[in-house]
Amino acid sequence: MLDELCGAPNLYIDGKWVHAAGGGTRDIVNPADGTVIVTVDEADRADAVTAVAAARAAFDTGGWPRTSVAERIAVLERIAELLGATRDELARIETLDTGKTLRESHIDIDDVIAVFRYYARLAATGADRLIDTGNPAIISRVVREPAGVCALIAPWNYPLLQMSWKIAPALAAGCTMVAKPSEVTPLSTIALVRLIDRAGVPAGVVNLIQSSGATVGSALTDTPDVDLISFTGGVATGESIARNAAAHITRVALELGGKNPHIVFPDADFDSAVDAVLTGAFLHSGQVCSAGTRLIVHESIAESFVAELARRAERIRVGPGMDPASETGPLVSEQHRANVEAYVALGISEGAKLVTGGARPSDAALAAGSYYLPTIFDECQRWMRIVQEETFGPILTVERFTTEAEAIALGNDTAYGLAAGVRTADPARGERLVRALRHGTVWLNDFGYYTPAAEWGGFGRSGIGRELGPSGLAEYQETKHIWHNTAPAVGGWFAGNN
Ligand code: NAD
Repeated sequence: MLDELCGAPNLYIDGKWVHAAGGGTRDIVNPADGTVIVTVDEADRADAVTAVAAARAAFDTGGWPRTSVAERIAVLERIAELLGATRDELARIETLDTGKTLRESHIDIDDVIAVFRYYARLAATGADRLIDTGNPAIISRVVREPAGVCALIAPWNYPLLQMSWKIAPALAAGCTMVAKPSEVTPLSTIALVRLIDRAGVPAGVVNLIQSSGATVGSALTDTPDVDLISFTGGVATGESIARNAAAHITRVALELGGKNPHIVFPDADFDSAVDAVLTGAFLHSGQVCSAGTRLIVHESIAESFVAELARRAERIRVGPGMDPASETGPLVSEQHRANVEAYVALGISEGAKLVTGGARPSDAALAAGSYYLPTIFDECQRWMRIVQEETFGPILTVERFTTEAEAIALGNDTAYGLAAGVRTADPARGERLVRALRHGTVWLNDFGYYTPAAEWGGFGRSGIGRELGPSGLAEYQETKHIWHNTAPAVGGWFAGNN
């Protein structure tokens, strides 16, 4: 599959694979060793405009929005089957491109397959309603229709997964779309669109461009030809997209960042709590929107808890994602590692106590990759930027609390609101906490898990709207009320004009 991407055109517009009109290209770099994996086409604004026009035409005059639900389900199932048949190769591509371990990439691809299957099943259930108006002559129906042309913009940390959370429900709803993966990690999305092509999705329904957001962003988000923008990425980009959308009253769905608290009470099982905090903070080197990078631990256990965390963090095997011995891979790029290093320097200057990490690995074999050691800061205060801002790297901050009220206040002391974790053996306290925390997902005695059937998204600056679950399909639908009078008669309101 990777061979197929080499030298081949990899923009997909109106059912054809084409090179960028302006001849632009971009080297895609393996963060594990700095080598170029493949060179892909780099779209410019003109390509994006053409792709939007193709999606617009396919929506306005093409068959897809009007196909039967059964046909759409069959296509989603075919895509899931093709994904299953190429699972290993897709996982390899994801690991080369993002740096994550092959084990993580396999889980991602299985989740991608699950989301296509989930929306195939959900599409079959239908959400139309008949309303009883009290008048037997009136048939009142509320029906769901496709939202229209969608711009689907995804980040680099879970490239194929985040894009699938958009493409699968958009196809199920009958929308047409332009997909734009992150320019840092486009390879798995190109591979997915090749499968979509093979699955028989009509020309113009799914279009693909890859380029920097700065180059093609306005063509996708500042246009009346797009009906819905679904964006996953950083808050600053989300703000600028929302501003563009406002100019056209375009619908927006925003999945943005997070700074996610993980609260540990003293009655929690110690070993499983340490394990969950470690995994929550350092999986995928912390490059997870829902990473539990803000530990809020009861003062009575804080000393021993942090000591054990540090001991375990120092044993995490950092290395190339393709090496089965590696437990976590590099950061996605040199540039991103520089951002993370700047946050570590900031944490030190703010007075946080560096407990472990705070450096690149010393192993010479890793020198060419963008690796960074799991890092823990203790004695953090709520006002510190290292506590409040998303670092998107392997940095865990530690704050201590005494009372339950204080734990809740700290857990909600964030501009974000994507996810939170609570660990306690007391069910009543657990229930109080999960209800009091203002976050889109709250885990009680667990961390990081999700299911395609449950909504995902954030409170506050973590975004607008929800992906996954029935709401994730509703994002791609318009609601229409059809009022049908089966026995029309003179109403008589203006009786004096007869
Ligand atoms: P980013 O905002 O830099 O880029 C995301 C996407 O937006 C990329 O495809 C990029 O090319 C594009 N883009 C950039 N500028 C644009 C513009 N002006 N107009 C249109 N598109 C533009 O984010 P990133 O660095 O790729 O990803 C990391 C961020 O994503 C983190 O903040 C993370 O928390 C967030 N994220 C959130 C979720 C979630 O479910 N809430 C999931 C994954 C990642």
